[in-house]
Amino acid sequence: MRRAVFPGSFDPLTNGHLDIIKRSAPLFDEMIVAVLNNPDKSPMFTAEERCGMIREVLPSVDTSSCKMRVESFSGLTAEFARKSEATAIVRGIRAVSDYEYELRMALMNRRLEPAIETVFLMAGEEYSYVSSTLMKQVFELGGRVNGLIPELVEAKMRAKQNR
Ligand code: ADP
Repeated sequence: MRRAVFPGSFDPLTNGHLDIIKRSAPLFDEMIVAVLNNPDKSPMFTAEERCGMIREVLPSVDTSSCKMRVESFSGLTAEFARKSEATAIVRGIRAVSDYEYELRMALMNRRLEPAIETVFLMAGEEYSYVSSTLMKQVFELGGRVNGLIPELVEAKMRAKQNR
C-alpha cells in the first residue's frame, strides 16, 4: 500500500494544484490532500471551506485508481504524514524560486521522519506561474482568472467578495 500526503494551504485550490494531483495519483494507491489549518495567516477561506471545495472538485479529476481523501491538519507536516501512515510527501515545483524553500522543508522533514520521502513533481508549463496568492490578487483587482482555477472556486471567491 503506497500512501502519499499532498500538503498545502490550498487557499484557494488552483488548476496548478489539480495538475499535481492528477500526475502524482497514478504513483500511489492512496493520497491525502492535507489542508493546513492556518487561521493566524488570515486565509481567504477557512480550512473547512477549503476542504469542502477540494472535495467538490476532485470527482471531476482523473486520479487513476488512486483513492483520494481530503483532511485538514495543523502542526508539522512530517508528523501528520507519519500519523497517516504515509510513505511520501508530494510537493510541486514551479520555478527555481520554489526550489530553495522546498529543499529546506524536504531536508527538515527527512530529519524529522527519515522513513518518509518527499517526491517533487514539476509544474505543468501552463500553470507554472499560477499561485493561490497571485490568483487572489488578480481576482480582487477585477482581473480574469478563469482557466487557472476551478469554476467552483471562482464562484466561491465571487460570493465571498459580494458579502
Ligand atoms: P504552501 O503554503 O504549503 O506552499 P500551496 O497551496 O501554496 O501551499 O502549495 C501546495 C503545493 O502545491 C506546493 O508544493 C506548491 O509548490 C504546489 N503548487 C502550488 N501551485 C502550483 C502550480 N501552479 N503548479 C504546480 N505546483 C503548485
